[in-house]
Amino acid sequence: MAVRFVILGAGPAGNQAASYAARHGAKVTLVERDVVGGAAHLWDCIPSKAMIATGGAMAYVERSEGMGLASLDAALDPDALKGRITAIEDRLRTSTEDLLSDQGVRVIRGTGRLTGPHGVAVETTDGTEELEADAILVATGSRPRIPDWCEPDGDRILTTRQAYPPPVLPEHLVVIGSGVTGVEFVHMFAAFGSKVTLVVSRQQVLPNKDPEVAAALEEEFLRRGVRLFIGARAVGIDRTDEGVAVRCDDGRVARGSHALLAIGLVPNSEGLGLQDAGVDVDERGYVPVNHHCQSNVPHIYAAGDLSGKLPLSSVAAMQGRKIAEHVMGMQAREHRHLDYDKAPQAVFTEPEIAEVGVAETEAFATGRKIRVTKVPFSSNPKALINNDARGFVKIVSDPATGIVLGGSIVGGHAAELISVLALAVNCNLRVVDVVDSLLVHPSLAESLSEAAE
Ligand SMILES: Cc1cc2nc3c(=O)[nH]c(=O)nc-3n(C[C@H](O)[C@H](O)[C@H](O)COP(=O)(O)OP(=O)(O)OC[C@H]3O[C@@H](n4cnc5c(N)ncnc54)[C@H](O)[C@@H]3O)c2cc1C
Repeated sequence: MAVRFVILGAGPAGNQAASYAARHGAKVTLVERDVVGGAAHLWDCIPSKAMIATGGAMAYVERSEGMGLASLDAALDPDALKGRITAIEDRLRTSTEDLLSDQGVRVIRGTGRLTGPHGVAVETTDGTEELEADAILVATGSRPRIPDWCEPDGDRILTTRQAYPPPVLPEHLVVIGSGVTGVEFVHMFAAFGSKVTLVVSRQQVLPNKDPEVAAALEEEFLRRGVRLFIGARAVGIDRTDEGVAVRCDDGRVARGSHALLAIGLVPNSEGLGLQDAGVDVDERGYVPVNHHCQSNVPHIYAAGDLSGKLPLSSVAAMQGRKIAEHVMGMQAREHRHLDYDKAPQAVFTEPEIAEVGVAETEAFATGRKIRVTKVPFSSNPKALINNDARGFVKIVSDPATGIVLGGSIVGGHAAELISVLALAVNCNLRVVDVVDSLLVHPSLAESLSEAAE
């Protein structure tokens, strides 16, 4: 009899697991309370990157003078932008729904919860449906963290989910939080022409990144007129006649027309009946998992943001696929564990930032011997042709074996270029393999080869 596999949440983790398990013969039921595609499509990756693409087009127009063109001008049309975001989301949702349907996945619209180790109840508009499962995946994602010192009103005080785009383009946006999400919002609204102030609780933006990478972004923000409140932790937001006043713990006040909160996420683990099924949940609300993404109850898996691993769509999708392999007993054959340390990560700002594997600072901190090579894009022909020679490529390798351990790229198309280094890091390639590979000329990728020398 086919394995009965029930999945809660149709984000990247749930969808990949459903699709892959169905292709390999499981009887899959996917339960989603909102839209297929999950928060990733509706609130996070897709709308934010669509807005950044529009901001990027505006920044490109700004740089057009240096490309032999007479000066151009671009003005934002928020309604057209909203329409564009909705069209992309619709297209992606429909194609995912079609794919799942072709693969025989049953999708139920409703809110699911575990009723015991093998039972799931789904509340739908028609009542409650009870399901029996041999394996269960809980992939219910996360939502923006709201601190107790402020209450978003969707008008002047916004969460990221209320900013796609906001009804009125902020004249002056105060962004609270300087992690990846925060700096991406700074970049997009600065590109749209808003004044922006960024409240940075630590000593650099992107606190978990290589300081050299963070410094390149800070420099660009300052060049674009972004105000940085470094070392200031927000402790309150007041509505004022002009808009908002963000109070910081060092006494400074950041004033603006709007404030946007980008201070992390909270896992969606409440009301799922996890305790009824005997599943452990940690004090922060995440479900701890092993390298197969199994919870303490072996046939109940957790993936995506709920699993407390790297909160990335790419990671969630790969976890989903690995879970499907495990549920279908395929781990005995070709199955490689997911190595979170080798996941490439990108920050979609200008300049774009991407990193993979071992960082230079991390190696120094642990005393690990490394070789670091770095080249700027300023001598890359394609970068000069593109009129954007900002940034650099840095490669970290093992001095004894030449194996590529990691790398950072700051500059145009960094998120695409990092794939080469991600492949090298994941497949234990050596720097000489990168150097010996023929590349297109002129291309930005030539700087990877140069940096690997
Ligand atoms: C602003 C922003 C931008 C981002 N950009 C990127 C990016 O560019 N690249 C990247 O890799 N990552 C990005 N991320 C992270 C990425 O969005 C998440 O890591 C990813 O969405 C996690 O996927 P998931 O499968 O865990 O769940 P989600 O995508 O969160 O989906 C979970 C689904 O579960 C459903 N659900 C919840 N409870 C129930 C229930 N009881 N019953 C039924 N359904 C339920 C929800 O409705 C939701 O649809 C971004 C995050 C943010 C906040």
